[in-house]
Amino acid sequence: MIVQLQGLLATIGILDIIDIVVVAYFLYRLFLMLKNTRAATLVKGLLVLVVFTIACRWLNLHVISWLLEKSMTVIMVALPVVFQPELRRALEQIGRGNLFHKSSELDEQELESMLESVALATKAMSKSKVGALMVFERNTGLVERIETGVPIDGIVSSGLIQNIFVKDTPLHDGAIIIRGNRVMAACCLLPLTENRNLSQELGTRHRAAIGMSEQSDAMVLVVSEETGTISIARNGDLMRYLTVNDVKEILRTAIFRPHTSSKDSMPEWLRGLIGGDKK
Ligand code: ATP
Ligand code: MG
Repeated sequence: MIVQLQGLLATIGILDIIDIVVVAYFLYRLFLMLKNTRAATLVKGLLVLVVFTIACRWLNLHVISWLLEKSMTVIMVALPVVFQPELRRALEQIGRGNLFHKSSELDEQELESMLESVALATKAMSKSKVGALMVFERNTGLVERIETGVPIDGIVSSGLIQNIFVKDTPLHDGAIIIRGNRVMAACCLLPLTENRNLSQELGTRHRAAIGMSEQSDAMVLVVSEETGTISIARNGDLMRYLTVNDVKEILRTAIFRPHTSSKDSMPEWLRGLIGGDKK
């Protein structure tokens, strides 16, 4: 056994190691890239199908295996159609040379400073009734949304946010998208919610915030131009009439845990057991 292993090791050259490292690195970056898109869910579905197919073949379930194999062919043909927007974006990004964006994770100090800036700007805009729409990216990547706007890529500051939303200036329309402590883009177009049970007083700004929070795990902060009220949309719900301190608290809990996605889906009792966050 040991001799066999030694023989095997002797055949591994430096090129093989480089080969393996390059492939591993590429797969890792691909994983990171997918993690930030909606395609991740589809990939998970595909993996489940593949595992199921292998299990059926192993158990000699001929009819199911046959059906699954045939449907795999159809899926392979359908894939480029389903993933067309993602594929196009990936190719465009390769062309631009930035295939893999760095997902930013904040330390506590950076988060506090970001929250302070957002709170200051929100307070000022609420007081002077300046309409604002701010999206805070979490685990769902919002690249598609960022691309609908005007790139900014600047560190969040109260001045920057207030400046963007000044009425009748070129960038005030639409939403800003914040990743980590950077404003990625302004003037972004968000999807409107189709929820028909919303209060009539909620116009398109609030409906866009709710829509965005339905389609992703992002938190969306709205300052109303008509009333100056502050709201946050999360998971399709709108928390209204918030104070600036509420805003800080809600955003702090939501944003400062970059790896909560698996914990979020845990049952309450399990989260309690491992000392998870209270909601
Ligand atoms: P407010 O209380 O501030 O008046 P509202 O909910 O009544 O908000 P509107 O008065 O319709 O909404 O606000 C219009 C503004 O909302 C637009 O000028 C634009 O900046 C923003 N907006 C509307 N639709 C979208 C969208 N799909 N994506 C991003 N921003 C949007
Ligand atoms: Mg309005």
